[in-house]
Amino acid sequence: MSAALAIALSALAMTLIVGGRYLLSSGAFALATRLRHPGLYRGLERQMRREIGWSLASAAIYGVPAGIVAWGWQAHGWTRIYTDAGAWPLWYLPVSLLLYLAAHDTWFYWTHRLMHRPRWFRLAHAVHHDSRPPTAWAAMSFHPVEAVTGAVVIPALVFLIPIHVAVLGLVLAIMTVMGVGNHMGWEMFPRALVHGRAGQWLITATHHQQHHAAYKGNYGLYFRFWDRLCGTDIGLGDFAAARRGGEPAPGR
Ligand SMILES: [Zn+2]
Ligand SMILES: [Zn+2]
Repeated sequence: MSAALAIALSALAMTLIVGGRYLLSSGAFALATRLRHPGLYRGLERQMRREIGWSLASAAIYGVPAGIVAWGWQAHGWTRIYTDAGAWPLWYLPVSLLLYLAAHDTWFYWTHRLMHRPRWFRLAHAVHHDSRPPTAWAAMSFHPVEAVTGAVVIPALVFLIPIHVAVLGLVLAIMTVMGVGNHMGWEMFPRALVHGRAGQWLITATHHQQHHAAYKGNYGLYFRFWDRLCGTDIGLGDFAAARRGGEPAPGR
């Protein structure tokens, strides 16, 4: 098989994996939303169809760099992904996880903040903010330009930072769960965590909801580190108040 065909097949396989993962995870969280908060997505059917369309297009974009790198890893031993757990000390497993999350968070913060400048916002980021309020289906609802900025992160990091293949799987799982969870319109983590000391530094739905409500501030992905350091942290949102504000007053 020619290299070009092998790369195309690898990209197609990755697209199917990313798209399937999106449909399964967003579908599961949408179902959980229906059980926990019946009617939360009422009237948002058209928006959800749009979110699914953009997200599947994003999956195709994510599949290309991932497919090229997966092919190079298998065919030529590219990347610093390792499969022998003894190749690096055990303590490096959690350290590599944190390094990946911190690096991704840093890239996300600065590209996201840039995309809130008016020109870039119109060009690349308005699609994501068209979801008012976002639903579990909005996890990958990005304009193709924004999708490219997200698609290159992990494929680039695997060339720079050594990582065990299982930890890489964990990074992708965390990325998926937080991406969906942060947009689904309610908080899945306990109040003690979100409003406690850990919540001062970790980003969950309550924090990202405030970004979508205010259209500025709270640009981070996993951690509040950059937002707090740069003075862009605008605090936690309030789902209950947002819901009350979004509903017509009784009798009207
Ligand atoms: Zn934004
Ligand atoms: Zn968002």
